[in-house]
Amino acid sequence: MIEDIDRDVFVRIQTDLLVVGDSIMTDRHHASNGNYEDDDPQNQIGGIIPAFPLSGWLRHGMERVVHEYDGTACHPGEANANFMKEDVYERDLGDGYHEKGACIDDPKEDNGCVVFDLFGGFGNQPGKVMRRPIKFNPVRSSVDYTCGQAEGHYRRLNRNIVSRNREDNREPLRNAEVDAVANLDGCWHLSFRETKPEFIGLLAEGIDFLDEHKTNFMHQLGGARNFGAGIVDCHLINPLYEERELKCVFDRGKGNTNKMDEKDDRWAEEYRPAFADALEERIAEGL
Ligand SMILES: [Zn+2]
Repeated sequence: MIEDIDRDVFVRIQTDLLVVGDSIMTDRHHASNGNYEDDDPQNQIGGIIPAFPLSGWLRHGMERVVHEYDGTACHPGEANANFMKEDVYERDLGDGYHEKGACIDDPKEDNGCVVFDLFGGFGNQPGKVMRRPIKFNPVRSSVDYTCGQAEGHYRRLNRNIVSRNREDNREPLRNAEVDAVANLDGCWHLSFRETKPEFIGLLAEGIDFLDEHKTNFMHQLGGARNFGAGIVDCHLINPLYEERELKCVFDRGKGNTNKMDEKDDRWAEEYRPAFADALEERIAEGL
């Protein structure tokens, strides 16, 4: 069954507004058609959303799924990291996490817990799922969904930070500029270095968890969450789809083909439950 699953899988990500701190990389100098104004709605600025915030967001959703199966996950931080508050680390260890790498005796032999197996850990332990950045472009016809790209519109938000002293009469203290992507819709590309049924099971359930909890502050993506950014609709695109079927998902003029509907049924009735069982078994083994 797992042999029917390609190493490359895609997650559909849709969000009205995404703010990734200052770490959106833009290519405003080319393809912007001589128009370099950040805030001009006609601009053609595309860019890249780095994989770091996406990866952390996914990992957190997956950890929650592991907890729901009564398992514990590797803590994302090093045990000897200089935590701001020692008791936060201790609290986490009592609350669904084990010390990072505690699930491994021999790094050459063991895969550790499923979270360690996927995300890796110490130095040369890369993890078996590669998370890629998302390249976005405002011109839909230039977006290649099969390469993990998205339609998205770069915006620069300006915020006036004003004085809160009454006698200052809300005098502006400074202006903060924030990089944002509006109306993002596309694919996030994940590649497995090795596929295992429990990996696909955890991915499917983790993505569903994130979709169900998308308005929960803890499970929003990126920054400015207090201002409504980072609420993400997400779902795993049926891994049984072929490339042209994946493109079909984003073609508003076309619906699913019969073959896609058939694959959806097979995914929901056979594959996904089998992969979820594999996940449950692995967690039950304590790993
Ligand atoms: Zn672990």
